[in-house]
Amino acid sequence: MAKETYEELLERIQTLEKINDQLLKDQMQDVKLNYAWAGSLGHWYFDYQANKVTYNPLKVLALGYTKEEIKEEVNYQFFTDRLHPDDYQMVMNNMIDHLKGLTPAYEVEYRIKAKNGSYKWYYDRGIVTQRDREGNPLFLSGIVFDISEKKKYQEELEEKNRMLREQSSRDSLTYLYNHRSLYEKLNEYILHARKYQPLVIAMMDIDDFKLVNDLKGHVFGDSILLELSKIMLHHARKDDFVARYGGEEFFMIFPSSTMDEVYLVCEQIRKDFMKFTSLRGQKITVSIGLAVYEKGTASEFIHQADLKLYESKHNGKNQISY
Ligand code: GH3
Ligand code: MG
Ligand code: MG
Repeated sequence: MAKETYEELLERIQTLEKINDQLLKDQMQDVKLNYAWAGSLGHWYFDYQANKVTYNPLKVLALGYTKEEIKEEVNYQFFTDRLHPDDYQMVMNNMIDHLKGLTPAYEVEYRIKAKNGSYKWYYDRGIVTQRDREGNPLFLSGIVFDISEKKKYQEELEEKNRMLREQSSRDSLTYLYNHRSLYEKLNEYILHARKYQPLVIAMMDIDDFKLVNDLKGHVFGDSILLELSKIMLHHARKDDFVARYGGEEFFMIFPSSTMDEVYLVCEQIRKDFMKFTSLRGQKITVSIGLAVYEKGTASEFIHQADLKLYESKHNGKNQISY
């Protein structure tokens, strides 16, 4: 063993005294609580003034290091150097607040870099167990859990939830937004109507679609619905919203176009649809009603477009009214 200076020896003794003191307390508590250390758990002691961290091996073995690679005592920076950059400041702030006595415990979840470069998730909790007379921290004691598996599971669940939420907002045949999403979106736009000026909607309904089904069958009918939805999406711009209202009725919301612009877009959709269906040997057409938001609820706004759509139907179908 290398010779130590008197100061180093003194510091070592002081650290050992503090750890000893702590271990005795822990041992008593262990007996009292019959505490069982689980596999994913480590515990640590942090001699704050000497900047030395003593830990049970799990905390670093879980990071892929062997016992031989790591000294018995490492400093606090050994762990902070390995923190994920996005978590670093949060961990530091949490520790500083606790050291200052502002919080009852240091408690964080963070990502820490393993030897192979991948990240593990740790849950870390500790408290200052000894302070000097002025209240400055001397010693901390804590536990750490490897929660990587739990986090992975949590992320998978979040991803599943996101997918389910996405699915429940869509129509299963066309994968356009569904009736519910249309109302949600429209309510959102109406709430910020001052920002979205003018706010224009288009309601579309395929002409004599019952006849199409009756003559060509429902599978053919479905393919026509799908095609119209594709044409609508093709002409929709970035902010435009396309939804299937139900049956052979569709909606588009235009939050950043004038009535004239919307008219031109809808005219394109009407013509493209007719062109496509003629190519398939059927002359299937679509009628459209447009409305611009003035006041009232989403239902009232939709009703305005519906009235215009009725006008198109009444005047011979395959046309736009506004
Ligand atoms: P109009 O020109 O007045 O709109 O007449 P229409 O026949 O299109 O209107 P109507 O409301 O009488 O009929 C709509 C038809 O749409 C009835 C139904 O069979 C058909 N339909 C609704 N949903 C679907 C669907 O998901 N797939 C298919 N293939 N047909 C559908
Ligand atoms: Mg209809
Ligand atoms: Mg119809």
